[in-house]
Amino acid sequence: MDLAESGIFEECGVFGCIASGEWPTELDVPHVITLGLVGLQHRGQESAGIVTSDGYGLMPTIRTHKLLRHGVGLSTGSDSEMITQLLAYTPPHERDDSPDWVARIKNLMKEAPTSYSLLIMHRDVIYAVRDPYGNRPLCIGRLIPVSDINGKGKILGLKKLSTIEKEIPNGYLEVPKGRNNSETEGWVVSSESCSFLSIGAVYYREVLPGEIVKISRQNVQTLDTVPRPGGDPVAFCIFEYVYFARPDSIFEGQMVYTVRYRCGQQLAIEAPVDADLVSTVPESATPAALGYAAKCGLPYVEVLCKNRYVGRTFIQPNMRLRQLGVAKKFGVLSDNFKGKRIVLIDDSIVRGNTISPIIKLLKESGAKEVHIRVASPPIRYPCYMGINIPTKEELIANRPEFDDLAKYIGANSVVYLSVEGLLSSVQEGMKLKKQKIEKQENIIQENGNGLKYFEKHGHCTACLTGDYPVELQW
Ligand code: SF4
Repeated sequence: MDLAESGIFEECGVFGCIASGEWPTELDVPHVITLGLVGLQHRGQESAGIVTSDGYGLMPTIRTHKLLRHGVGLSTGSDSEMITQLLAYTPPHERDDSPDWVARIKNLMKEAPTSYSLLIMHRDVIYAVRDPYGNRPLCIGRLIPVSDINGKGKILGLKKLSTIEKEIPNGYLEVPKGRNNSETEGWVVSSESCSFLSIGAVYYREVLPGEIVKISRQNVQTLDTVPRPGGDPVAFCIFEYVYFARPDSIFEGQMVYTVRYRCGQQLAIEAPVDADLVSTVPESATPAALGYAAKCGLPYVEVLCKNRYVGRTFIQPNMRLRQLGVAKKFGVLSDNFKGKRIVLIDDSIVRGNTISPIIKLLKESGAKEVHIRVASPPIRYPCYMGINIPTKEELIANRPEFDDLAKYIGANSVVYLSVEGLLSSVQEGMKLKKQKIEKQENIIQENGNGLKYFEKHGHCTACLTGDYPVELQW
């Protein structure tokens, strides 16, 4: 299902780039950033902006900082402005006007332990910061010469990389000691890794929860890691896996696509059905549908053909188009399913107003039965960590219709994935990675932090369970 239709919106994505070596550089940094932001479009499109520095000039946020110190309040309503104000506040133990950015960032993280990923540029360095709960993602990529990408016949993917880079225990890739830094043309930092390939970057590593990383033209350096209050567990947003992220992004050492596939497999275990074929509401639920089909031994068959351009704004809504409903958005591949029993996988049913016309369309086009299997648990609670979720009253799981949802949406049956099933699907890959690391004893001795990372993992499931990672204060 489209994010826009579900009523759930991700609020932001960040992307930064810094050229290595001597400046001025031949690397077209604004172009890299533009392409990087294009790769994050699925995370939100309400506004965007780019700022660059030649290493000497001041930035707009610094000017804001000076204004704020003279008592100018918030003017845009943006959380970035709020963060700038907190950064402008000199920690009590520091000298006034101290340029100690680490102290300022740590002060911000103490005041606001969740939920953000930040890029703070100051002259010729970028600070990449992830909140102590690790609620939002952030990762680093290395820009490599285009000849390394094209000259070896194939695009460098993770697999190919493993032959030239050394894998470290937390599942990330690092440049082996001794490799000349000239092979690194620059560094990029992004909410997601999905656009790295298109800009000639390779995945380097994740910024860890609470970590403050300084990225300069010389290197990438961890400055500090701010702990969570009271030793709380990490709370990475589980909906990044289910919903928000592009399937080719990597979080916690695993590809989002693989996790969605496992969710489908788990759903087949939890909710099998006597049917003829498995299909998907294109395209976000496709990995889960493939996982479901593989697990229960049914064929995966396409039943809907998506019109990719119907959502664009140049198609003005009018009464006739509105009445056509999903028919304007999907074509039916009726030859594939006439007289058959379909298991239709969706990634979520949030308000319940999109799936019923699809079921109607399939039945009117010849489907004998349509069983809905949802590759995530029902959403019941609001998110206070930056995700826009419909009101409690709008959520189908909180409405009386939910008691007989199959009847309400016109399906033969409906089953959602359990919270435990979702958690095990997400954490299974991390467990496997940990086991693999445990076998690589020699590497563990060199890089002891990897195992610790996996031991401390954790996920926010608050919109599913009401169990919030931080205490709500009203
Ligand atoms: S409440 Fe839901 S959407 Fe919000 S951070 Fe937690 S898991 Fe993600």
